[in-house]
Amino acid sequence: MISERIKSISPYKTEVTKASVRLSSNEFPYDFPEEIKQRVSEEIKKIPLNKYPDPTAEELKEVLGEFFGVDPQNIVLGNGSDELIYYLSIAIGEVYLPVYIPVPTFPMYEISAKVLGRPVVNVPLEKDFDINLEESLKKIAEEKPVLGYFAYPNNPTGNLFSKRKIEKIREKGVFCVIDEAYYHYSGETFIEDALTREDTVILRTLSKIGMASLRIGLLIGREDIVREIDKIRLPFNITYPSQVIAKVILREGKEFLEEKIKEVIRERERMYNSMKEIEGVEVFPSKANFLLFRTPMPAKEIYRRLLNRDVLVRDVSYMPGLNRCLRVSVGKPEENDKFLEALYESIKEV
Ligand code: PMP
Repeated sequence: MISERIKSISPYKTEVTKASVRLSSNEFPYDFPEEIKQRVSEEIKKIPLNKYPDPTAEELKEVLGEFFGVDPQNIVLGNGSDELIYYLSIAIGEVYLPVYIPVPTFPMYEISAKVLGRPVVNVPLEKDFDINLEESLKKIAEEKPVLGYFAYPNNPTGNLFSKRKIEKIREKGVFCVIDEAYYHYSGETFIEDALTREDTVILRTLSKIGMASLRIGLLIGREDIVREIDKIRLPFNITYPSQVIAKVILREGKEFLEEKIKEVIRERERMYNSMKEIEGVEVFPSKANFLLFRTPMPAKEIYRRLLNRDVLVRDVSYMPGLNRCLRVSVGKPEENDKFLEALYESIKEV
């Protein structure tokens, strides 16, 4: 029989609605150029499909190490950072001890804890979406969580939490997972802490830099921590094709990526400035590849009007503190133009 613990979980929601401008999943707007796709096909042809992949993905870890500036022995690979979040909820502290999660944030933290029956300490963010330190310290003293998840920048609010507040929470004995999925758009990191401290790791992913299809996430931490977490990694969790494709792209697509990442950042600022000008729209500053905004109408209504104009965004108004809020990913300039026009018209219609 299915346990009550599992029955009580609300599933992670993904947006599968069809639209020609899809700005709902924080994906990278660009696929790789034809020359790189060609190189990928050549390498894929060589894969012995009847064989298991390298279980430790040694060569891929070397390439990733070079790309992210760390040694391979500081990396655990996951089938997306989602898988690593599960591993962390399993491995850090005893499973009956609570997990601290500031909310609203990425739902997988809470789901992974609940799957294990771990108690969750949710603390609402402040009005500016930074951590409420006072309330957090109070809850930490009362409930004694041993693991904390910090999306840095946070999804879906887009801001970076104050580093000092995270450090204060860590001083109380909370192991800090700093999820840097959007690192390439923020430039801010806890990597030095992750490489030197036993109470901090960071997460990175290839999903937000053009390789969401591959499902490759990285946990970066001290060698002794990495060794322990690697024990619970499922064998062969990174498929042969994913290993092969990631190696080609990271070796040969770096310049393309760097250029397009800069473009996304420029576009994010352009969208922010244009959205600010639309009467009734409150847009929040972002260090990620998406923007959170609030409108005067129920989010469902704006979502529907945008969809009528063939633009898909994410309705995040069900999350705590995000009444009337939606999230839009930064797309290609022409997609962003379509979104801006659709938003302007949807609001004007009222
Ligand atoms: N962390 C955050 C903060 C995210 O927003 C996401 C994806 N939406 C993930 C992790 C999951 O990334 P991956 O594709 O590597 O599983």
